[in-house]
Amino acid sequence: MSTESLRIVWIYPDLLSTYGDRGNLLILAHRAAARGIPVETYEVRSDQQMPTTADVYLIGGGEDGPQAAAAQRLITDGGLHRAVNQGAAVLAICAGYQLFGHSFFAKGQKCAGLGLLDLYSDRGPTRAVGELRGDIDPRLGLPALTGFENHGGRTHLGPNATPLAKVTAGIGNGDQTEGAWAGKILGTYSHGPALARNPAIADLLLRWSTGADRLAPLDDAWAERLRGERLAAAASPA
Ligand code: GLN
Repeated sequence: MSTESLRIVWIYPDLLSTYGDRGNLLILAHRAAARGIPVETYEVRSDQQMPTTADVYLIGGGEDGPQAAAAQRLITDGGLHRAVNQGAAVLAICAGYQLFGHSFFAKGQKCAGLGLLDLYSDRGPTRAVGELRGDIDPRLGLPALTGFENHGGRTHLGPNATPLAKVTAGIGNGDQTEGAWAGKILGTYSHGPALARNPAIADLLLRWSTGADRLAPLDDAWAERLRGERLAAAASPA
């Protein structure tokens, strides 16, 4: 944490915020405040300069047009690159995840990404729509991933990115893996919002960004009910 407060940025709510992805900001801020961590949240629109000194950056999903516009703007701005290079933590969802890679497809065009995750995305044969479930990389020590996916892209990881999870239902990256992580950057196709369905990921981001080894447990009965329901709703592969 660079200041007394945990500073969380929600990137470009005017372009990228499908399926309630802004809920990720609410959940993260709530889980920090519930541990007595002072929080400042910033919703940075695409006509504003990206702050470089926040602790956590959240980016959501979106349609192809806004996704391409967001990538262009973030490349020109450069602030997110500086923040990541200074050690900020990131959660990137769907379109936001794709644009963290080297390139992605939007409206039939190959677009440059930020190159902050070693991956690229192309188009798949079908649209991936529905419940997504996966076993998260055991090194992260988290319970099963649950989310809702809706994307046309498929994502291919290079050697410097590790799959976030092994798919047990749904499509994810398209090769039985889902999402990616490297350093303190997490990318996933999971909407939901992802942090409401996976509060353990919110706590991982909080540990990364505060340097705390442990966080006080919270009453997660509501989240456990939601998780149980959504994990059961995900169809297992044939
Ligand atoms: N436009 C991207 C795709 O279709 C991302 C979609 C999304 O963010 N839901 O692959």
